[in-house]
Amino acid sequence: MTEYTTPTSGLTSLSAAELAEKIHSGEVTSREVTQAHLDRIAETDEVLGAFLHVGAEEALAVADEIDAKVAAGEELPSALAGVPVAVKDLFVTTDAPTTAASKMLEGYMSPYDATVVQNLRAAGVPILGKTNLDEFAMGSSNENSAYKLTRNPHDTERTPGGSGGGTAAALASGQAPLGIGTDTGGSIRQPAALTGTVGVKPTYGTVSRYGMIAAASSLDQGGPSARTVLDTALLHEVIASHDAFDATSVDTPLAPVVAAAREGAAGDLKGTKIGVVKQFNRPGNQPGVQAAITKAYDELANLGAEIIEVDCPHFDDVMGAYYIIQTSEVSSNLSRFDGMRYGHRGGDDGQHSANEVMAISRAEGFGDEVKRRIMLGTYALSVGYYDAYYLQAQRVRALIAQDFTKAFEQVDVIAAPVTPTTAFKLGEKVDDPLAMYNFDLFTLPLNLAGLPGMSLPAGFAEDTNLPVGLQLMAPAFKDDRLYRVGAAFEAARA
Ligand code: GLN
Repeated sequence: MTEYTTPTSGLTSLSAAELAEKIHSGEVTSREVTQAHLDRIAETDEVLGAFLHVGAEEALAVADEIDAKVAAGEELPSALAGVPVAVKDLFVTTDAPTTAASKMLEGYMSPYDATVVQNLRAAGVPILGKTNLDEFAMGSSNENSAYKLTRNPHDTERTPGGSGGGTAAALASGQAPLGIGTDTGGSIRQPAALTGTVGVKPTYGTVSRYGMIAAASSLDQGGPSARTVLDTALLHEVIASHDAFDATSVDTPLAPVVAAAREGAAGDLKGTKIGVVKQFNRPGNQPGVQAAITKAYDELANLGAEIIEVDCPHFDDVMGAYYIIQTSEVSSNLSRFDGMRYGHRGGDDGQHSANEVMAISRAEGFGDEVKRRIMLGTYALSVGYYDAYYLQAQRVRALIAQDFTKAFEQVDVIAAPVTPTTAFKLGEKVDDPLAMYNFDLFTLPLNLAGLPGMSLPAGFAEDTNLPVGLQLMAPAFKDDRLYRVGAAFEAARA
């Protein structure tokens, strides 16, 4: 094993906005920038395990196209043209395998690109490769990947979070300046928090789910991540689009996220009301995390924001509601992976019936956590239990959404921790699913309500010396508020 060394320098340490400026002015080429990141991946990924697939040739081909446009003085397709990105391996791509980190989809080549991927291509953003995740995006540590362990660049004995741990580790280590993830219950925000990077879960319906392998369709949302608030906004603008291929896609113009990030960095927060959720101040929170978050609230107040405690009583019931709704939708969505329509086929020796082939295929193709969720969801939806579980969970979901609505009558944005502790050790929670589930307590409510949220760095916990994330939450379609407050907070800490 080659030693992993944290500090990166040169091109791989710059922000996407800085790289774009250099590429577009002709100071460096996109090829140089893309190659520098590919080199960084080659140097560090044996230890970090962030990527399941690296597409060097394809990325460099896009870089060359952008360089040719710059050289010819032609108009560039986007503000991020030529700046490379890492994509979670849950988005289907025509030029690289898509596995969802599952044996079920080993070697699967999609006949089409996910809409998010199409948007990246149209923007001239080279795709470095596909990053590791928990199988079908179910998990909080990346330990449920069927292929490899991803390590946290801040401490390689620890998790980078999950399910988007690969993208987060890539950002934190300088392997990529931009990343794409999905957030069903926290999978963009939680890994961002554990690796000291920025991640945003957009308002549900604003980023297309077409070609994003479904876990729980009413909760899943693709989103951007990066190392700065502005970079995240620039990527957000590239990937958000209305899409007729996604039945829940909304035809509402995206809030001005880039303008908000720029204004926020220059301004203060006078007149902004920020809510702090009473229910999140839990005795179980790690003291170092609680201290960093309290300090973050003070910093927001110093910037001129008014901090107001908000009461969200139904947040205490979020765990039960999420794990019934999420597993129910999973049990339905993942039924297509049966060795017939999609996925690994087992028992195909002429000795088994069609039903047996499906059962064998699923037994061999899915990992333990995915099976656990399918069983829980199938049970919750079964005749006689539907009213007691699924219907009840939907009622709790409505009450959680109502808590948010009431809170947002009082405040513009809600601030919160992202996780109760900093990154835990690999292996520490793998045998205790409930402990793993509980880690997402602070990120789940947002998904149930369909609202936008951000995780951004709030320093390091004194007791573990590991990154702490501050979470910001906003009303639906007000994603720009996250960027305004986030950029102000980031600028004040710089
Ligand atoms: N950790 C949560 C789960 O396992 C959330 C995952 C996600 O957002 N994809 O369901």
